[in-house]
Amino acid sequence: MTDRYCVIGNPIAHSKSPQIHAAFAAETGQDIHYERCLAPLDGFADVLRTLVQQGYKGANVTVPFKLEAATLATRLTERARAAGAVNTLSFKDGEIVGDNTDGPGLVADIVRNAGFALANKRILLLGAGGAARGIMLPFIDEHPQSILVANRTRATADSLVAGFAGNGVQLAACGFDEIEGPFDIVVNATSASLADTMPPVPASAFAKGTLALDIMYGSAPSAFMNFAAGQGADTRDGLGMLVEQAAEAFTLWRGVRPGTDELLSNLRKQK
Ligand code: NDP
Repeated sequence: MTDRYCVIGNPIAHSKSPQIHAAFAAETGQDIHYERCLAPLDGFADVLRTLVQQGYKGANVTVPFKLEAATLATRLTERARAAGAVNTLSFKDGEIVGDNTDGPGLVADIVRNAGFALANKRILLLGAGGAARGIMLPFIDEHPQSILVANRTRATADSLVAGFAGNGVQLAACGFDEIEGPFDIVVNATSASLADTMPPVPASAFAKGTLALDIMYGSAPSAFMNFAAGQGADTRDGLGMLVEQAAEAFTLWRGVRPGTDELLSNLRKQK
């Protein structure tokens, strides 16, 4: 019998996840069906219950339900607990296991796809919301020299950094006006790009060879990417992160890791 999965969100019509998982299934010969699932803003828990009752094997979770998914999971992985958010659910043996593959997806895109090692690097992370929280532990696990978290609301950056202290990596928090660069890698994990704006990061954060990565993706480079390119940085959008977080979820569910190179290049051609 075909195993069923879905991605739950609101809105959800724009999601590329069904296309991505269908490609993974075709490549690996896995018999799965993956669809979009629109949940009412106050109806995530009901949708989840129905999916479990109907025998679904798992689900991805996207905006705005990642925090609620973390509270409804009966068990959380370490990285989901650290992130305080869940983007991948597995329904197995009466349990709802919550995981977070966003951060590992970003690391895979940086290290494997972009060929950029994070060990001993100086990292500037812009933003301290849900995505930034999920990125912290996977970044720390790569043993960078330092991570500076800059956020519009300074107190949120402070509490984010405090939650990850004692991991052997130099961590600090600041406001955008306190940033002193340059950095080896600058990751824009704010949602400013959704409004086609950028956080007020100074030009001095970038140098020739800096990797400037916006975790958002669209048909054109973001304001952040254009600004960083103007300072000589190499730029990258969040499409690779999207594909890699999906590959990590697929691997968790199916026990087989799909390739991502060809799919990523096909998706880039479609943009
Ligand atoms: P949150 O709402 O949790 O956090 C938003 C963050 O952006 C906060 O730090 C907020 O600062 C900051 N921010 C918002 N507007 C501005 C602005 N105009 N200037 C400066 N800072 C701003 O969102 P998420 O963390 O969940 O998502 C962030 C982005 O990441 C979204 O664009 C999302 O689409 C993308 N994303 C991409 C993924 C991928 O696979 N490629 C996966 C997950 C997310 P403050 O604390 O001051 O409000």
